[in-house]
Amino acid sequence: MEHVEILGKKLRERIRQVLGKSLHIRHLDSGSCNGCDWEMNALLNPIYDIQRFGIDFVASPRHADMLLVTGGVTRHLEEAVKLTYDAVANPKMVLAIGTCACGGGIAGENYAHSGGVDKLLPVYVYVPGCPPKPQAIMEGILIALDRREQKRYKL
Ligand code: SF4
Repeated sequence: MEHVEILGKKLRERIRQVLGKSLHIRHLDSGSCNGCDWEMNALLNPIYDIQRFGIDFVASPRHADMLLVTGGVTRHLEEAVKLTYDAVANPKMVLAIGTCACGGGIAGENYAHSGGVDKLLPVYVYVPGCPPKPQAIMEGILIALDRREQKRYKL
């Protein structure tokens, strides 16, 4: 778990530097089998306990800085995915969590499934894996913060 501690310290510093406050995340399940969701939920258990690094999950996208999307997008959830994205304040950071969210996964693209999240939303960072480990999700969040900082300096 040493890796988690090192990652967590980097996250805490980066969050403070980039946001000047804590990071608020909204989780959006757009059609997952729940495997990715369990790995994401593990971030809040006593082993990972990512809240100590300044990260919290929020119920409303209006309170979120970042959207973590699990699962490929099922067609009946397309509108809900777009509405959730619209509700997040700018600049919006979207992470595709897991192989399905990254590219559609085993379901691909068909009459009931639109494919990966980037079919509908601009994705900041892709975190592949079926499912990805909690550490990989933490690394994805760190990369997203780095990208946001780079964009800030380009403006
Ligand atoms: S990537 Fe794997 S674990 Fe995640 S939603 Fe798809 S099938 Fe499930």
